[in-house]
Amino acid sequence: MQHFVYADDVEGRKFTERQQSRLCVHWLVLTPAIDAGTKKLHSSRMTATSSIAFLVVAGGRGSRAGDGPPKQYRRLVGRSVIAHTLEALRAAAPQAVIATVIHADDRELYDASVAELSLETRERLLEPSIGGASRQQSVRNGLEALAALAKPPRIVLIHDAARPFVGAALVARAIDAALDHGAAAPGVPLSDTVKEIDASGKVTATPERARLRAVQTPQSFAFDLILEAHRAAASNSLEFTDDAMVAERAGHPVHISEGDPANVKLTTQEDFLRATSLLLNALPDVRTGQGYDVHAFSEGDKVWLGGVAIPHRHGLAGHSDADVLMHAVTDAILGAIADGDIGSHFPPSDPQWKGAASSIFLAHACKRVRERGGMIAHVDATIVCEQPKIGPHRDAIRASLAKIMEVELDRVAIKATTSEKLGFTGRQEGMAALAIATVRLPG
Ligand code: MG
Repeated sequence: MQHFVYADDVEGRKFTERQQSRLCVHWLVLTPAIDAGTKKLHSSRMTATSSIAFLVVAGGRGSRAGDGPPKQYRRLVGRSVIAHTLEALRAAAPQAVIATVIHADDRELYDASVAELSLETRERLLEPSIGGASRQQSVRNGLEALAALAKPPRIVLIHDAARPFVGAALVARAIDAALDHGAAAPGVPLSDTVKEIDASGKVTATPERARLRAVQTPQSFAFDLILEAHRAAASNSLEFTDDAMVAERAGHPVHISEGDPANVKLTTQEDFLRATSLLLNALPDVRTGQGYDVHAFSEGDKVWLGGVAIPHRHGLAGHSDADVLMHAVTDAILGAIADGDIGSHFPPSDPQWKGAASSIFLAHACKRVRERGGMIAHVDATIVCEQPKIGPHRDAIRASLAKIMEVELDRVAIKATTSEKLGFTGRQEGMAALAIATVRLPG
């Protein structure tokens, strides 16, 4: 509530609920300007007082999109589908809290997706609820979790995890519609004529197309209204296909707001292919960076390469763990976004990096790419040494780098060569590594 009080204080006047909601949005958009020390406090207060909540339903087992994990956890251009969805929702309404409902078997997949989110989005997330036997029961569980908050929301937007293209304008319309009507769903006109058929396939009716809408999510409601409607449906053992219908059956008129044809639900393999090309089209600025690093051999019994310890009769000398490969890859990524080099981000003069795992450096460089809304399209690296032999460790090194970079394995290539006993690597005085990184950024 303090946001509304703040707005009232500034303007010295009272606002309608709808105006307050907008002021709340405006005020909270300004909060990043608050210094870092108080930001966290504001963030936790916002969690307690925010008037809008998203409820993201992610309990489905959808397998029509092919093998692998449930579709909301399938990867789509460097992130899981649900991670795209959560980022899109947070960007659309930064002041809202985000509740999720997941399947009990999916906790690890969910946690891995959360790890891919920006800090801003993670700060808005509540602990997930566990879903029930049906989508309706899952939504009910999520609503009950919101009801148990110290300050339950006034508006809830219930959204499918498999709709990652939800946009800010659609969310704003959904919030307005809930404030105006209490219950609303976005709908898009149909381009196909719809036929009603019987069991034999015979057409029994042709509804007038102009009066039909294909309904999407987020469906938006006054929180108390939809909570009560779900409780009533559950106590009467009624099962409905969407939340709008739960509200309808409880006697609440549902208003259709303007949907967005781009806000598709990913279901089939074709949907995923189309979504991939859409997302890549949104990252047209392709950049390339190079990295090069050398470390001398020293006393020791192993070398670190790409985060993998490889037994050797020497170690590598360096301030950190001297992972020559990881340093070259890190510099290549920083080079691709013209963001200095590893030394400017982690000065060797700073004692805190002494003996540090180089994965910290690489993860940081990758974060800098993601913070710009970009993705790492590819990394190709070459290790130059006579010994140790790299071949037996190549797959482990690739897997290690891909994990640290949070990219698919096929976006990481590792090669090795000797220098034919020429030069410092040929004399086995040390090792060198070269890397090229390709990064895609928004246009
Ligand atoms: Mg180095």
